[in-house]
Amino acid sequence: MAQHILFLAHVAEGANTLTKASHEVLGAALKLSSQLGAHLTIGLIGHDVAAAAETIAAAGADKVFAVFGPDFATARYMSDAAAAEAICRSAAADLILAPASSRFMRVLPGVAYRLNGCADTHVTSLEALNGELRATRWYYRQRIEAVIRREPRPWIVLLEPGCEAAWTGTPGPVKLEELSPPKLTARTVVTGIRAPGSDAQTIRPDADLLFVAGAGWTKKQSDGKTHVAQAEKLILDFLRASGSSLGGSKSLVDQTGESQAVLRFMTHLNQVGQTGSTPRHPKGLSMCCHGEEPHVVGWRFINERRAVNLDPNCGWARGKADVLYVADAFEVLANLNALLTPLTQTSLEAMTQKA
Ligand SMILES: Cc1cc2nc3c(=O)[nH]c(=O)nc-3n(C[C@H](O)[C@H](O)[C@H](O)COP(=O)(O)OP(=O)(O)OC[C@H]3O[C@@H](n4cnc5c(N)ncnc54)[C@H](O)[C@@H]3O)c2cc1C
Repeated sequence: MAQHILFLAHVAEGANTLTKASHEVLGAALKLSSQLGAHLTIGLIGHDVAAAAETIAAAGADKVFAVFGPDFATARYMSDAAAAEAICRSAAADLILAPASSRFMRVLPGVAYRLNGCADTHVTSLEALNGELRATRWYYRQRIEAVIRREPRPWIVLLEPGCEAAWTGTPGPVKLEELSPPKLTARTVVTGIRAPGSDAQTIRPDADLLFVAGAGWTKKQSDGKTHVAQAEKLILDFLRASGSSLGGSKSLVDQTGESQAVLRFMTHLNQVGQTGSTPRHPKGLSMCCHGEEPHVVGWRFINERRAVNLDPNCGWARGKADVLYVADAFEVLANLNALLTPLTQTSLEAMTQKA
């Protein structure tokens, strides 16, 4: 049973704040520490962690350890591992909870090895049951759920985003205990980040809505023609106005490899389903997708599901969606965009006036 819990987080790159996923892990850490009567320590890594530390002051941790400076601004195995190791050794916790971010997933299993402990990634829940800690995670494309118990300590658990309510509290002053890892002899220099333009960045795990496009967008419509350029514009306008994340059905993402008319921003990374991803969003909206079982498997963690399809007998109509609109998706999305765009303009104007 854990006597001492460490909540470990890195600041969001370039933002100096903690991510929503980190706030979720803090919520889980606080819940567990009150269930177990365990001490809670916080550890933060980043270029500048002061502002992030203040946002979680009200969590009431015993101590807040920090490793910060330009060396820790971006993800790099060597510096991240040294920082996490220094914090874990100082905290001497038996349970370490961290968000399953790509930065930590890469580095914390190696840190567990250095500490003679163990690590589990992709964990979706952690609870104390009859005096025993149990973590759960999915295997085999979310078809098998495993319950994991571990003897070695420290046990590093990386929690998936979207599984816990994010902790919130009033910011306040925090006393940071700065740690300096042994002198770094870095062989890798981070010279910058090359990322797609913001329009092309369509996968947004924190978005409230998952918008999923199906192959219907590229199929011949009632006039006997395809309207791919129009579909591209409608979908991109919607993503921009709503801030939703973009998913795709397998049929749609596969078209890229089959030299058909395609939506250019759609890649295999967007694919949702049995052989795709299983994202977690409060709401999902599917358009021009049939709702076949292997696709809908990827919707299992979407709480509220709606779909638009011309076919009243499509898969969504058979219990796969909460609401099915039997309608032309081109018309529905054009109308939705018209409703959303003035809203966005109005709120932008209001913000400008305020500033
Ligand atoms: C082992 C296995 C694994 C698989 N894994 C996955 C997976 O991970 N993800 C996945 O997505 N699929 C997966 N599939 C494939 C899946 O079974 C379906 O074939 C696929 O999801 C179909 O994609 P779709 O619904 O976009 O296309 P279609 O079946 O072609 O459906 C297009 C839909 O668009 C509608 N439509 C057309 N025009 C309009 C319009 N103007 N307005 C509204 N609706 C319109 C049509 O009525 C139709 O229902 C898997 C299959 C197998 C066998």
